[in-house]
Amino acid sequence: MADETALVRFDDVGMRYDGGAEVLHGVSFSLAPGSYHFLTGPSGAGKSTLLRLLYLAQRPTAGQISLFGRDVRDLGRADRARMRQRMGVVFQDFRLLPHLSVFDNVALPLRILKAPEAEIRRDVGELLAWVGLGEHEAASPATLSGGQQQRLAIARAVVVRPRLLLADEPTGNLDAEMGLKLMHLFEELNKLGTTIVIATHDTTLLARFRHPRLVLTEGRLKTMPPAPPSRGPVVQRTAPVAPRAEETRGEGRS
Ligand code: ADP
Repeated sequence: MADETALVRFDDVGMRYDGGAEVLHGVSFSLAPGSYHFLTGPSGAGKSTLLRLLYLAQRPTAGQISLFGRDVRDLGRADRARMRQRMGVVFQDFRLLPHLSVFDNVALPLRILKAPEAEIRRDVGELLAWVGLGEHEAASPATLSGGQQQRLAIARAVVVRPRLLLADEPTGNLDAEMGLKLMHLFEELNKLGTTIVIATHDTTLLARFRHPRLVLTEGRLKTMPPAPPSRGPVVQRTAPVAPRAEETRGEGRS
């Protein structure tokens, strides 16, 4: 039965690039408003292609996609642009605008929505400070490190509190602490109602932030429950760090 309440719905979607082999086959799933999913699978499985279909950069070659309750085939150019304004996207290659300052990159989505300049000043300033770029507002993105550019790309994607946030390996260039901080930002955004899809290989994040998974294998998609929490010998083998206080409590260390 059709799920009219889904924010995103794929029915038997297939995708091939210009005459090549099909890279997504019979993909069906739906995302409820306010849900949070990780998109995982080996390199080449089709994760970026699936994200491209979601942000309307590509059309499927088979099946049907509906977004925000509308069949995307029915959308004209203006409708597609409006729909994209309700999405925040963190691209793997950031896609920052090199001729705009750090501040103006983040302000742009708000300016497109004609937000008052005082509000823009406040929201962009707060967000840049929070992601640790407060000192770099006037800088050109090209002068930032890879990790700083990634934080900028995330700030730009979340500044309008999008209805749908799509992110492709958004913590891939960040150290562990900053990665966690930004994952908490996504959690907060999700609590405010944003539907989230994050493509990641990072098993630590998958085990720590326990959201259901969309798992792609050679272009086929399965929906799976959250990854099990990471505990026990695997963690100890790969991360030889002292256990945290709460894990040793009551064990009578001497
Ligand atoms: P992932 O993000 O999981 O690594 P991709 O969606 O990037 O996977 O790629 C899935 C398949 O589609 C791969 O075989 C890749 O070579 C192919 N592919 C991706 N982008 C293009 C493109 N623009 N043109 C042709 N083939 C592509």
